[in-house]
Amino acid sequence: MAGTQAFLKQAFLRVFGPVASMRIWRAPGRVNLIGEHTDYNLGFVLPMALDLACYTATAPRSDGRLRVFSENYSEAREWRIEEVSEARPAGHWSDYPLGVARELVRAGYPVRPMNLLVWSTVPPGSGLSSSAALEVSVALALLDGRAIEPLELVRLCRRAENEFVGAPCGIMDQYVAVFGREGAAICIDCRSLEHRAVRLPEDVAIFAVNSMVKHELGQSAYPVRVQECRSAAAALGVESLRDATLAELERRRESLPDNQYRRARHVITENRRVEDFIRACEAGDLTGMGRLLVDSHRSLRDDYEVSCEELDFLVETALGIPGVLGARMTGGGFGGCTVNLVRKDAAEGFAPAIQDAYQRRFGLTPQIYPCVPSAGAGEL
Ligand code: ADP
Ligand code: MG
Repeated sequence: MAGTQAFLKQAFLRVFGPVASMRIWRAPGRVNLIGEHTDYNLGFVLPMALDLACYTATAPRSDGRLRVFSENYSEAREWRIEEVSEARPAGHWSDYPLGVARELVRAGYPVRPMNLLVWSTVPPGSGLSSSAALEVSVALALLDGRAIEPLELVRLCRRAENEFVGAPCGIMDQYVAVFGREGAAICIDCRSLEHRAVRLPEDVAIFAVNSMVKHELGQSAYPVRVQECRSAAAALGVESLRDATLAELERRRESLPDNQYRRARHVITENRRVEDFIRACEAGDLTGMGRLLVDSHRSLRDDYEVSCEELDFLVETALGIPGVLGARMTGGGFGGCTVNLVRKDAAEGFAPAIQDAYQRRFGLTPQIYPCVPSAGAGEL
């Protein structure tokens, strides 16, 4: 933390010049262990907050402007404070901070003139939720210590992404960025918006493996899946797929287009897998946990159709490495990361083995992130 603080102070000084005082806000990325594409269907998810995080350093300005600099992209954007409430998206990374600022103003938290420096260790566009980390850290920075209900913060940041950036994401990413816990994953009920901590067995390690690819298809497919699920729910006569059962789906199979049938089957079985995974976790059944991850991957690949060659290769290859209990794609899909459950006593061999195999097959070196369950957002 001391290193991060020193780095941010220096960067801030370089970009904005000397300041009397500076505050730093942190919001974590996350890895979702299981429960994929279930959040916008109001089901269950089991993410954990990571020690990879987005940091926003702030100091006040005196000229009525809001300026945001991304240290990752070496680029700045600036607005007059009066512009913020009626701002329009520009199809640029700055839509995330600007969207958050707009939502804050609209929710009755006026934004003050400020300089913001954003720096993230969450790899962008890799399924570890750099976007929610950015939104939440910027929201806290703009609030500048003003109190807000945690759930209101979650909803506000999600609105920024849904309505301003234009990505119809569910609530998981912002939720876990705010409510994440040190030492535990959290199971979120995306309908009641309650959660509970789930501790992982002592003898397992979690790794995210970055495929280093992001296929364009992901951008366009996500809203299509959201819509397919809505249509399937309507055809089954339920408010959301959270309420659908496998038995009812099978009974109505003929009345649904095949794609809707398979999307619904993924969501229904995935919700069940989250519950089964937690039970296995609490019973210390490592084999069972691993098998559920693999089932989840195959369901995402075959029924939900959001995997890709690189992710399939990473999963199948991981399963052949000694000590690997299970693996699956994590995040929206079409690239990004896999999440891998590995026996602790075999953890050392995992990274070199998967890197070597992937490098040989695709000529890319996958980044590996050991996943340590970390705390939710706050001031550094
Ligand atoms: P994910 O959330 O899985 O990382 P998204 O596509 O939802 O992927 O969000 C990634 C986008 O968030 C980036 O393309 C960029 O616009 C924005 N972003 C994330 N981190 C930063 C950062 N440090 N600086 C500027 N923009 C960022
Ligand atoms: Mg995102």
